[in-house]
Amino acid sequence: MPKLIDTHCHIHSKEYDFEREIFYKNAIKAGVTKMICVGINPEDSQDAIDFAGKHEGAWASVSLIPHEAKKGQKALAKLEPLLDMPKVVAIGECGLDYCYMGSSRISQIEALHFQLDLAIKHNLPLIFHVRDAYDDFWPIFDEHKGAKGVLHSFAGDQKTMQKAVGRGLFMGLNGIVTFSKNQQQINTFKNIPLDYLLLETDAPYLTPKPFRGKVNEPMHVRLVAKFLADLRQESLELVAKNSSSNACKLFKI
Ligand SMILES: [Zn+2]
Repeated sequence: MPKLIDTHCHIHSKEYDFEREIFYKNAIKAGVTKMICVGINPEDSQDAIDFAGKHEGAWASVSLIPHEAKKGQKALAKLEPLLDMPKVVAIGECGLDYCYMGSSRISQIEALHFQLDLAIKHNLPLIFHVRDAYDDFWPIFDEHKGAKGVLHSFAGDQKTMQKAVGRGLFMGLNGIVTFSKNQQQINTFKNIPLDYLLLETDAPYLTPKPFRGKVNEPMHVRLVAKFLADLRQESLELVAKNSSSNACKLFKI
């Protein structure tokens, strides 16, 4: 059974009431041997770090998510001290979300600049959350030379994919792959070069088929991998091997 990595989940989050220890064990049993717990604000990032500290196969990412960007400098200033803690491997999910406008455009842009600077200063990869905002995202990304990372929950078109590849950015695919009906998206999923592919769940969200409607958990990254491999007419082994080695290289896990 090929080993898989869930590069983006939120099972540490105290906001949800579910059995995270069972989720962790299920994942390990299913061959999902590594996972990155993504914090969305300083407090939640601390919870991710605590969870990673107690679980061999878990790592943490710290951030201020776009829809909480309105918390501003006060929240952003709390991120840097967290970067020195054990098992912190990335900054994110940061970015721009103009679909769900939880914070103003200006505050989202400010938070993105701040976290890009922080990542470059600490030589850490970024996990980007970009929705309906690529026109603003690319010029900001390009201003920060040396930034590296992944476009999480990637569901863009072919052009966006080419822009990502041209900048050395990975694309993180999740349950959307299993239930998308958008032909343009599906074609892009088929064409992402293996060298730029990461797998994730975004658990507890975006549960893949056939478990739609249930709570998502990291072990389901296996369903994403299998569905994607079939879609691309590649073997599960090939998809697993490449996406896992990409994740290990990017996050140094
Ligand atoms: Zn997420």
